[in-house]
Amino acid sequence: MAFLSCCFARLRPNVYQAVYPARVAHVDLDRSQVLISLEELSGFADHEQSSVEREWAEYIAKRRVHQPAFRAMVMRAYETQCTVCRFKHGELLDAAHITADSDAAGDATVTNGMAMCKIHHAAYDQNFLGVSADYRIHINAALLEEIDGPMLKHGLQEMHGTRITLPQSTRDLPDRDRLSARFKAFLDTSG
Ligand SMILES: [Zn+2]
Repeated sequence: MAFLSCCFARLRPNVYQAVYPARVAHVDLDRSQVLISLEELSGFADHEQSSVEREWAEYIAKRRVHQPAFRAMVMRAYETQCTVCRFKHGELLDAAHITADSDAAGDATVTNGMAMCKIHHAAYDQNFLGVSADYRIHINAALLEEIDGPMLKHGLQEMHGTRITLPQSTRDLPDRDRLSARFKAFLDTSG
């Protein structure tokens, strides 16, 4: 028997993230304890799950717990502003990963994140924009040569050589080793 439920993941003291649906996997009446399993609804299928399905369910469950928490931590650290251009509307901001989410080392920790507006996040992910370990912004060499409208000129080219806006708290600063590794990938594609 399975019960649909909701549980709360602890982000930091007194701050919790609701996670649902969650499955009550086991009830221990003697100890008044329940074991909550985080799964997609597809996990309720009657058939035995294959290892691929299981891995996928675990991946989804991990993302559902960690990604909203990651975003909340990064937005708080960066005071809801783009680290590149200081744009301040949360609806158009993302928590960008330094070490990619798809990488096994891509932890959902604040030091592996930077708040970026949608355009700078996409530019960072596509290596049009890089951030070196000394917190400087670099724009792809070919892009610097292009002539186009105001987005290219003001949004990207004029950011070249400037420094990102850092979190107030030193413990929230982007990890320099991660930045350095990611910046190498930028240099490899920047030419
Ligand atoms: Zn921006």
